[in-house]
Amino acid sequence: MTALISVRGLSRIFDVSKPWLNRVIERREKAFLTAISDVSFEVEDKSVYALVGESGSGKSTVGKIIVGLLSPSEGNVEIDGVNLATEADRHEVERVRADVQMIFQDPYASLNPRWRVRDIVNEPMAARGGDTNGLAERLLEQVGLSAGDADKFPHEFSGGQRQRICIARALASRPRVIVCDEPTSALDVSVQAQVLNLMSDLREELGLTYVFISHDLTVVQHMADRIGVLYLGRLVEEAPRDTLFASPKHPYTQMLFDAAP
Ligand code: ADP
Ligand code: MG
Repeated sequence: MTALISVRGLSRIFDVSKPWLNRVIERREKAFLTAISDVSFEVEDKSVYALVGESGSGKSTVGKIIVGLLSPSEGNVEIDGVNLATEADRHEVERVRADVQMIFQDPYASLNPRWRVRDIVNEPMAARGGDTNGLAERLLEQVGLSAGDADKFPHEFSGGQRQRICIARALASRPRVIVCDEPTSALDVSVQAQVLNLMSDLREELGLTYVFISHDLTVVQHMADRIGVLYLGRLVEEAPRDTLFASPKHPYTQMLFDAAP
């Protein structure tokens, strides 16, 4: 068993003070919110690790720290043996960063409406300085769209198709890890299964590792090898999928299962 990702003791505090309001009411107090606290887990290479929990439990915060969109207040993330917080070897950190991509919940918000699909999909590879010739066309076909779609703009596609474009873009830099943040929550139920099947197929085909964020236990049961349960910013339980589904130990996990349809 090799851990591709090690998440160690992650905490993240947000300053939620409103300076303009403080000025108006003539106060100086700062307000802080602990989004996640001491979260640790490991993700095996080529596996799917699901993070479940209700809205506000800190799932996206963990995901964003793993891809480097947010820095932790405490703790660190190690990917392929490289601690992302090391100052010593920026080159190594850059290399590992390019191996990690993210797909977001809202495929409407996460595509630049003024860019052609070709430029959107090619962007991560272009940023990496690689060859983008024919890349978008090939990736669009790989995700079940057509090469001709490269000339179109995001508004010409349905929600499910846009999420396919997001997946194509995430694949462009040939990543090893994709953090999928509720990738099907904004889609019609009939489209959800198609996108999930695509994601499963791609994982098999390309040997990807997923950190799969979801509040939907049905989706998680379908996708995950291992599951971590977040509650109020803490990882209250984690186990292999079958173990967790057969005998959830933490009262919160039990409650989640009781509430599931
Ligand atoms: P989830 O993805 O499980 O819904 P999040 O990680 O988005 O949870 O949020 C966890 C908590 O942190 C929430 O209370 C949220 O309001 C807060 N939070 C997240 N991002 C920010 C931010 N940029 N500034 C302030 N508070 C934030
Ligand atoms: Mg979220």
